Amino acid sequence: MIVMKFGGTSVQDGSAMRRVVEIVEREKHRHPVVVVSAIAGATNGLLAMGQTALSGDTRAAEEVLSQLVSRHRWILFDLALSKSTEREVADVVARYAEELGNFTRGVVLLRELTPRIQDAMVSYGERLSVQLLTAAAQVRGLDAISVDAREIMRTDSRFGKARPDTEALAVRCRETIAPVLDAGKIPIIEGFVGSTDKGEPTTLGRGGSDYAAALLGAALGAEEIQIWTDVDGMLTADHRLVPEGKKIRELSFAEAAELAYFGARVLHPATIEPAVSRDIPVRILNSRRPSASGTTIASRARKTGVAVKSIAAKKGITVIDVKSLRMLMAHGFLRSMFELFDRHEVPVDLVSTSEVSVSLTVDSDEKISAIVEDLSQFSEVTVEKKCAIVCLVGEEIRSTPRIAARSLSALGDINVRMISQGASEMNLSFVVREEDADEAVKRLHREFFTGIDRPEVFEEVDTEMVP
Ligand code: ADP
Ligand code: ASP
Ligand code: MG
Repeated sequence: MIVMKFGGTSVQDGSAMRRVVEIVEREKHRHPVVVVSAIAGATNGLLAMGQTALSGDTRAAEEVLSQLVSRHRWILFDLALSKSTEREVADVVARYAEELGNFTRGVVLLRELTPRIQDAMVSYGERLSVQLLTAAAQVRGLDAISVDAREIMRTDSRFGKARPDTEALAVRCRETIAPVLDAGKIPIIEGFVGSTDKGEPTTLGRGGSDYAAALLGAALGAEEIQIWTDVDGMLTADHRLVPEGKKIRELSFAEAAELAYFGARVLHPATIEPAVSRDIPVRILNSRRPSASGTTIASRARKTGVAVKSIAAKKGITVIDVKSLRMLMAHGFLRSMFELFDRHEVPVDLVSTSEVSVSLTVDSDEKISAIVEDLSQFSEVTVEKKCAIVCLVGEEIRSTPRIAARSLSALGDINVRMISQGASEMNLSFVVREEDADEAVKRLHREFFTGIDRPEVFEEVDTEMVP
């Protein structure tokens, strides 16, 4: 069997949904499990609705809700279902709208929006798109059935960023999804959404439908995990910055994981781990150009002789410089420092050290003041917010000389705050000021990709199709 995940833009309107159904139909013989995101903009809309309700603005919150419901109704009518199916789905949409209205009024009344309530509200985005896509598939004659992700994706109760229980997931997949597949049906299930053991809805973090797809793929032992989106695959850089960027035909799991982690939004950073655990290839494909070959991510990519495969950038980075108070770095200093980050549950991205000081980066400034206070007990701390990591990725960076020298000279007058080459030596990262990040990506892309004519490694992108 295979897993096919469709992102928000791939189901954003009636014609997009019809295209998805055609794509699924073509893969019918491979026993697909379909994972779907909320329609484009719905998750943002639901979050905005919660926030406006929290501010007490009932009318604005109800306006957001009514727009969201209208968009779904519009798609529903556009699908040209039979009258009875249309009524059935319209009833479900109306029920969900009413429930969301109740949540909204509750938030306004209580002036409280806990992560738990927010997850319950946000989960309706995916629940709505599953209803619509299932109907769209059925009207095309596919034997599709919606499966409630809350019954399958058991998670802990870290609302907003819940962690899956993979063992429970495997059991539920065997009990619930496998029989559906055995009966020749196509299950359609929400990405992003799960539930706690008490049945409270949870979400896996923004962009988490990719992760859900990979988790389901691993639990079911899929032959392939397909991530269908609005671009041809993993590109040499985000096309909004570098329109001339090319599509990469193949990446290793390690390369894709680095790119996803350092900002290539096309793939949620956690997607690769479940795929690696069962050695399942992941393909990124364009739902508006289904015949394009996409990017294939597998355990090992062929040697290409090309050092840099892609450039990613992650903004919103904070650099923390920590200087040991005892001048020379004392024994135990690093341990106490990292233990502290661990205690605050803040992951550190890059680290570079000298004899007396350590510079490191974190990607949120949420807990910075508490961390700084603790660090100040035994060190001198300075913090610089609004930085960005710009990162070159490629397995062959390690065997290619002069990459760092070429990068620094290409960056020219852009001030580089920190440089780091990971132990795997397939990523070379530069920390720059956030406002310089876009220009840094452009300059590095020019340096490493101009004039490269390697059609077996990089493929031209049809610029007409780029969103
Ligand atoms: P979906 O809704 O299908 O999950 P996303 O918006 O999450 O889609 O991801 C696709 C987007 O990722 C692209 O439209 C593009 O703007 C962005 N992106 C950033 N970096 C890259 C990259 N290196 N390659 C491809 N897309 C990228
Ligand atoms: N709908 C969710 C989001 O917008 C999950 C996803 O699209 O992957 O973050
Ligand atoms: Mg996404």
